[in-house]
Amino acid sequence: MGPYLQTNKVRFLIKNIYYLFLYLFACNLFSQSLRLDSFTNNINENELKNLVYVYSSDFFKGRETGKLGQKRAVKFISEFYESINIKEANGTENYFQKMELNISGNIIQTENVVAVIEGSEKSNEYIIISSHLDHEGEKNGQIYNGADDNASGTIGVLKVAESFQNAVLSGYRPKRSIVFLHLTGEEKGLLGSKFYTDNPLYPLENTMVNLNIDMIGRIDPKHKNNLERYIYLIGTNLLSSELHEVSESTNKNTTKLYLDYKYNDIDQSECIYYRSDHFHFVKNNIPAIFYFNGIHQDYHKPTDTAEKIEYGLLKDRIKLIFFTAWELANRSKSIKVDKNVDYSELINCRRYLKLYNL
Ligand SMILES: [Zn+2]
Repeated sequence: MGPYLQTNKVRFLIKNIYYLFLYLFACNLFSQSLRLDSFTNNINENELKNLVYVYSSDFFKGRETGKLGQKRAVKFISEFYESINIKEANGTENYFQKMELNISGNIIQTENVVAVIEGSEKSNEYIIISSHLDHEGEKNGQIYNGADDNASGTIGVLKVAESFQNAVLSGYRPKRSIVFLHLTGEEKGLLGSKFYTDNPLYPLENTMVNLNIDMIGRIDPKHKNNLERYIYLIGTNLLSSELHEVSESTNKNTTKLYLDYKYNDIDQSECIYYRSDHFHFVKNNIPAIFYFNGIHQDYHKPTDTAEKIEYGLLKDRIKLIFFTAWELANRSKSIKVDKNVDYSELINCRRYLKLYNL
């Protein structure tokens, strides 16, 4: 009797220990995803609204490159990073990567703003999250506030940075380093991103990916009457099929937006692929995703203002970018370039190659 019962007890114990481990494993997975969500508590409609209203207010005078309004913008951005204890990038002066640009014959002093969170395990591999900080300035006495273009993207990068910092403070430092890059001179012809890729603060060969945000706060006419929450993604699969897979699966598991690939084509009629800062990264063989809401009636008009932004949708789009960056930052292997872009057959967009000396 004795030994037999013992065996039963042991079996019982072993079986239950097995279930206990299974249970703990499931709890761990569950709490990880719960925790990941809690890092994004800062991405909420109220805070986004406050920040977009400030950054697109008349105080910033349309943020024209080199002018007073742009100087105020870079001060605002750098003070945000300072306030949440994210440090300046290597080689910057108080977050500023200073440069001199020749804009239609005038020499302009301006700067990118760059901050960094260093990775825990692969700190010499970099993910760059970018958006342009400038806009059109003032014309004929009217201020071009640029709430969508690109207060939405600027605030997006700040909030993604803050979410990463929340993770760090909870003991979850990303494996790879994250560089937060706010670019000047975009509206003058992608000049700040050209300067960065010509004078990189971190080696381009160790830069795994660029996530670029330019206009993510509005709904375009194509989607106006649909209930679906959408975003256009451009570039996801052009250099790396893995990047496309990570982007798709992250969205499926988190924000579940409708991903529209209408502009994801190097010869599409509007040539959107060539029209924001990610292009200088792609040109250097760095896979990139450009996050974009499409063209609308207030595009590059003084009527691109803060009360027209869809804050609920902006929140979900920013969360998608954070979750995607998180996946990319923490996966064991870096994503690989497995394709190359062939520009030789371009018809619609040939002029952009001349513009960028390709
Ligand atoms: Zn623009």
